Amino acid sequence: MPYICLYRTCPTMLNFIRPNIRAARAYAVADLPAGWLKLDAMEVPYAFPPELQSELAAQLARADINRYPNPAASALPAALRRAFPVPDTAALALGNGSDELIQFITLLFARTDAKMLVLEPSFVMYRRNAELFGMDCIGVPLKPDFTLDLPAVLNALAEHNPALIFLAYPNNPTGVPFARADVEAVIAAASGAVVVDEAYGAFSRDSFLPQAGQPENLIVLRTLSKIGFAGLRLGYAAGAPAVMNELAKILPPYNMNCLSLTAAEFALNNMDFINKNIELLKQERTRLSNALRGIAGATVFASEANFITVRLPDAEAAYQKLLDNKILVKKLHGSHALLNNCLRLTIGTPEQNDAVLSVLLQAA
Ligand SMILES: *Cc1c(COP(=O)(O)O)cnc(C)c1O
Repeated sequence: MPYICLYRTCPTMLNFIRPNIRAARAYAVADLPAGWLKLDAMEVPYAFPPELQSELAAQLARADINRYPNPAASALPAALRRAFPVPDTAALALGNGSDELIQFITLLFARTDAKMLVLEPSFVMYRRNAELFGMDCIGVPLKPDFTLDLPAVLNALAEHNPALIFLAYPNNPTGVPFARADVEAVIAAASGAVVVDEAYGAFSRDSFLPQAGQPENLIVLRTLSKIGFAGLRLGYAAGAPAVMNELAKILPPYNMNCLSLTAAEFALNNMDFINKNIELLKQERTRLSNALRGIAGATVFASEANFITVRLPDAEAAYQKLLDNKILVKKLHGSHALLNNCLRLTIGTPEQNDAVLSVLLQAA
């Protein structure tokens, strides 16, 4: 018998890991005990009713899980094009959530010395991926009201000529949309690719999806996560075929799994369910925003997403008070100077929103 010592330690082995990764921290995912209200991650609070659950279960049971999945041959791209205004001239790429597409789009443009430009505060994964792939990340601060500072962005474009720009429309973690004309000016001025991340597009009055790939440097990123299916991990990018063909070269050949593809297609064949939930959440967004304005000293930022960012006199105390009541929201305070005393509240069911409100009204 060959002898392998399983207990040998390798004190220097970890030193071979890329130093930028060793210096980073893993993305923290909240693990809540039962009975808590989870309003930190923009999940939709509604699940399929029992009839639809059974139908979905039957379809999943018939899925060809003994075969490698073939997203192109699955009905999903066609279902996405039926459900959302993807232009015929655009090509689609599918990802395990849009997070995976952010990662691969970054890899695609991460040539030596290439730069990424992001607006800040925004979705933290843009900068994380820039760091992961060794791109210099230029952060241009938003204005204090969380709108886009166009002259500052245009200056940064001229100075740095970034290969890649990420812009969330509407923005996370602020919920505020940028002026369409400002985004158009950025796209027109950029020589690199502009990714308009519309994770919250379904809750917004405006979208760049119909313009995806026109001009050629415009890539529109979307996801099923924020419209009810975060667990499916299904994101998509729409862009010019020339760009999407390059992206296809680096996506792992079987990155999408057949159970997700099947379930996503099923979901998109039930758009009534999805749209009803979106409408409900938008109504709740209005109701909750108005009620939050009743808190003395609160600033409620106008949101076009399924969350509300609010500045409170003492966000830390309010956050603790919510935790004491088994409610988890996102504490933005401390993550960026512009987010001082801000909390981000995912919109839940009317009852859940009432629970949040009553704690915040008491705390004030
Ligand atoms: C949530 C979010 C994503 C990631 O969504 P997944 O599809 O679940 O990976 C991407 N961009 C923004 C701005 C988000 O808020």
